Amino acid sequence: MNLAEAQSALDAGLLEARSAVETATLIDDLEEASRQFLGKRSPASAANEAIKGLSAEERPAAGQAVGAYRAAVTELIDARRGVLQGVAEAAGAEGERLDLTLGGHGRMRGHLHLITQIQRELEDIFVGLGYRVAEGPEVEDDWHNFEALNIPPAHPARSMQDTIYVQLGNEEQVLLRTHTSPVQIRTMETHEPPIYVVAPGRTYRNETLDARHSPVFHQIECLAVDRNLTMADLFGTIEAFVRQLFNNDSVRTRFRSDFFPYTEPSAELAVSCVFCHGNGCRVCSHTGWIELGGCGMVDPNVFVAVGYDPEEWQGFAFGFGLERLAMIRYGIDEIRTFVENDVRFLARY
Ligand SMILES: [Zn+2]
Repeated sequence: MNLAEAQSALDAGLLEARSAVETATLIDDLEEASRQFLGKRSPASAANEAIKGLSAEERPAAGQAVGAYRAAVTELIDARRGVLQGVAEAAGAEGERLDLTLGGHGRMRGHLHLITQIQRELEDIFVGLGYRVAEGPEVEDDWHNFEALNIPPAHPARSMQDTIYVQLGNEEQVLLRTHTSPVQIRTMETHEPPIYVVAPGRTYRNETLDARHSPVFHQIECLAVDRNLTMADLFGTIEAFVRQLFNNDSVRTRFRSDFFPYTEPSAELAVSCVFCHGNGCRVCSHTGWIELGGCGMVDPNVFVAVGYDPEEWQGFAFGFGLERLAMIRYGIDEIRTFVENDVRFLARY
């Protein structure tokens, strides 16, 4: 191929390219035209090959011819791409404007968070047992959160329940409640016994968020005050409660001596593992028992703090964490998942 032949091959290629590009109706057609007229087997590639056989004088002209060809084809393709994209966008806009008869993508229907579901379920059980739901503020004062509950200043239980304290000017120092127990105090301060209440709600402690701990969590606790209440009433109430909670009449309860400043005597409450029936599994750490929370008879000092006569009235209380209960029941390993708002988690429960 000499210079003239190379030039005429490029001219023919350009004509062909113009025809192919201008009749293209899809972006994909342009990609194909680009391969055909600029790629390895294109007229440009053939002309480049031919240049090697030309004389030194002819080469610059041949090189310029190839460059002009490539620039012309590229310009044709770019111009057509702009046209086709404009058409596609206009069609899209038109479609959005007019396709009113088409169905939507569907809207996900929301539901209550798992913790709220469990809280309401527990409230239902307690109301069925004759209790009333009581609520209190999440921002508490020292008296209701600690002192009235037999936790004086410098009591070691305070450091175990460290929280956020706030003092504004000369106002009394307030704190984020470390448990739902101040609701017991508020209820007894404003009501005469007998009292049967259950207090669910959000609580706060100075914890670093990890798999098992969260600075914000939920508790629910139960308080009964009446004449002649004994630990037998406490145990019987808990047993009736856990059977409904796990919907299982064979679930057993275990009480072990424990200490809380506001109950005396106090006990740790555990239930036989509902997954392995006491044989040992991952959920119960192979002990056959699941610790649920704490319980005990109301300390006489608490009654004195709210103005009840401890000689006349007795009471019991028990409580536990809602996140912990949900983790046990659904085999959830991470307490963090409750607050991450991952849609997969929210949709599952
Ligand atoms: Zn088990």
